[in-house]
Amino acid sequence: MSIRVVARIRPLLEKELDKDMIVRSDRVEPGKPDTIVKIPNPKNEAEEFSFAFNGVYDQPTSQETLFTCEVQPHLKSLFQGYDVTIFAYGVTGTGKTHTMRGGLKLAERGVIPRLLSGIFRRGRKIAKDTAGQTTARVSLSYYEIYNDKVFDLLEPPEKRTPAGLPLRAEANGRTVVAGLSERACEDLRDFEKLYIEANANRVTAATKLNAHSSRSHAILRVKLTQTTGGAVLESTASAIDLAGSEDNRRTDNGKERLVESAAINKSLFVLSQCIDAISRGDKRIPYRESKMTRILSLGQNKGITVMILNLAPLRSYHLDTLSSLNVSSRAKRIEVREIENEVVFKQVPRANPGVAPGGIARQPLR
Ligand code: ADP
Ligand code: MG
Repeated sequence: MSIRVVARIRPLLEKELDKDMIVRSDRVEPGKPDTIVKIPNPKNEAEEFSFAFNGVYDQPTSQETLFTCEVQPHLKSLFQGYDVTIFAYGVTGTGKTHTMRGGLKLAERGVIPRLLSGIFRRGRKIAKDTAGQTTARVSLSYYEIYNDKVFDLLEPPEKRTPAGLPLRAEANGRTVVAGLSERACEDLRDFEKLYIEANANRVTAATKLNAHSSRSHAILRVKLTQTTGGAVLESTASAIDLAGSEDNRRTDNGKERLVESAAINKSLFVLSQCIDAISRGDKRIPYRESKMTRILSLGQNKGITVMILNLAPLRSYHLDTLSSLNVSSRAKRIEVREIENEVVFKQVPRANPGVAPGGIARQPLR
């Protein structure tokens, strides 16, 4: 299994234009593409932390560019029978849903509609090139994992049972969701109708629980079945809009939120462990430790995984951004304690908390 971990920094929104930006992308040497994200140390803003990725997409990056660079190249592998998995990871408000779903306008469409469009197009081309000998069929499942329970998003929320759908281990070692619905999809229009309906189900269900859809993982599975005479080749593309990675305990410590936040933290932690293990080439991938990674058989199949870390460049996200960088960066902090523009003040006013009188405090140049 191969894995790519990339970061995407979103632009400032209209209402944020007067805010500071503290996250920036950088490159290892001039002429190379960006692969580094830089962010100040919140404890000492004179220091900057750097995190390395396989690629970093800065603010002007269009939906089309991201798709062309990170998803399109894997369509061929999907049609060769490999599974392709794409995650959006990050704090709520950083652009996960924008990246995966996107807007309605053509240019604003995200990874998911572009992926489906690419699959349909390639399927039609193969049928044409083989004079109908090979056919490609597409079917969809769409579900969410909320508090470690699985709910079908292609079914109306009224049909949900509190326990959610059970998992079942198949003879081939794979784990499947028992009773998950699967709908055939002929073309992009078919897909969009289903997808819009299902996303409405997600919001309704969350509202009923007095929760927010950012607290569940939404998983779209596209099953591709290619048939040539009696031979059948099956592969899956999964696109996952993960629950917000922020520390919910900091903002809201109600009991329900604590349960949610424990479930979210656990599954995101296991996901990051799996990604680390895969990128190190480990034999043992701890995918059994959470439902999400179990259902996706992460690391157990031959295939390609792309993790997109979404980042908002704002100071108000500082700590959460840092923790999401720590979790998803392959090389962790590569150049910890890179110091820029440092001035050392010997005399510190007593009012400054956390610094002993007469101690040395480091302050950034302003
Ligand atoms: P999340 O799903 O991570 O909570 P959203 O995708 O809802 O975040 O993004 C938060 C806001 O930022 C939305 O208004 C979205 O339209 C906007 N946004 C995110 N990424 C971009 C981008 N690359 N370009 C323009 N707007 C963006
Ligand atoms: Mg979202």
